[in-house]
Amino acid sequence: MKQNNYNPLRINVGFLLYESVGTSRKFEFDEPAVQIGDDLDIFDLQGSVTFTRTAQGLYAHGTLSASTPLECVRCLSDFQQALSIEISELFEYPPKKETDPILAILETGILDLTGLCRELMLLELPIQSICSQDCQGLCPICGNPLNEGQCEHPEANIDPRLAVLRTLLKES
Ligand SMILES: [Zn+2]
Ligand SMILES: [Zn+2]
Repeated sequence: MKQNNYNPLRINVGFLLYESVGTSRKFEFDEPAVQIGDDLDIFDLQGSVTFTRTAQGLYAHGTLSASTPLECVRCLSDFQQALSIEISELFEYPPKKETDPILAILETGILDLTGLCRELMLLELPIQSICSQDCQGLCPICGNPLNEGQCEHPEANIDPRLAVLRTLLKES
């Protein structure tokens, strides 16, 4: 991932802060890649967020989708996990002492969605990442990925404990 300071989730909303309560403005996102944290790279960020001026700051409302690369726990291949988040938060301006820093609009009129997106997207990550519901995993005998087809070798070398299990399954 390229390292630079451009971050499409960091938005200048200064002009909106001078508008009257109720004024809103929609921002569209369509970005091929964004580094959203040290632990999260996302690709193909799409969606829109509408900011509405309130007495306390700007209310952000919208939906964003993206994908992030993960490794399948069954077959160990890399795949793109789809992520979709709903944003519905008040960003405070001016921020108070007790304001969550990720929901604070800076003095400079910069509103940064990165922290909120990171939190919401990390929550979207599956506990067990699986490339597809019917992933066949790896062959227990030779380790070949079974998604690419069944193995040619005989099943005779199967672990005796597995063989017992297999017999039990057949009988049931
Ligand atoms: Zn898999
Ligand atoms: Zn095999």
